Amino acid sequence: MNLKKREAIFARWRDANPHPKTELEYNSPFELLISVLLSAQATDVSVNKATKALYAKASTPAQMLDLGEKGVRHHIRTIGLFNTKAKNVIKTCQILESQHGGQVPQHREALEALPGVGRKTANVVLNTAFRQIAMAVDTHIFRVSNRTGIAPGKDVLEVEKKLLKFVPQEYLLDAHHWLILHGRYVCVARTPKCTDCGIEDLCEYKQKSTADKPVRGKKAMAKKASRNKTTDKKTTMNKTLAKKVSGTQSKGRKAAT
Ligand code: SF4
Repeated sequence: MNLKKREAIFARWRDANPHPKTELEYNSPFELLISVLLSAQATDVSVNKATKALYAKASTPAQMLDLGEKGVRHHIRTIGLFNTKAKNVIKTCQILESQHGGQVPQHREALEALPGVGRKTANVVLNTAFRQIAMAVDTHIFRVSNRTGIAPGKDVLEVEKKLLKFVPQEYLLDAHHWLILHGRYVCVARTPKCTDCGIEDLCEYKQKSTADKPVRGKKAMAKKASRNKTTDKKTTMNKTLAKKVSGTQSKGRKAAT
């Protein structure tokens, strides 16, 4: 993909959503760190549900240590891998207290030294909490980068490096959020919503999904009409969401010209 296309894609995403944010709810770098740690193999919605009550009781490393592993485990019991995550939360808080004065460190090495914190989590914290240029490549970003051609790569590290190299400078700080939102709501894993996609004309994916295939015969037409009736509401909701996240095709094209 050439630079002109990449610039046009990010310009459309910025037009549609000038100030993209993570969907995790947090009030401090510490809460963000814990939420990202808890979000491995869990949805942001499930993490937010659990952390609402957790952070009301403990919003600092010291308070989390007072709550203890058992208390943390109780609050996050609805999230996958909660036993291991509760252990990691407590160990992380011990290190934050003993080595970082109760603060979240602002550099990669120290972050990655925390239990349960890998490169992706460190990148999210550096980018979202401390506004540093870092690209946390999750499954959504990996898929969107490869399908569109923005930054194709065989593994997450290759995609991360290519994104840092190829995303135009002015979009680097927020690129992570636009890519995630696009992957989560439009360029979804199974059947990407190409007909609702605001960057369809710029995307280089060779297997774009198309609108419904032609229906043959009266029976098939009746079946389709019935299906459309029941899914109309859902489709409208999806289109609204897709427009919100990525802009409409017509709006996007206009913006790029
Ligand atoms: S056109 Fe389809 S494959 Fe390309 S980014 Fe949009 S939804 Fe994804």
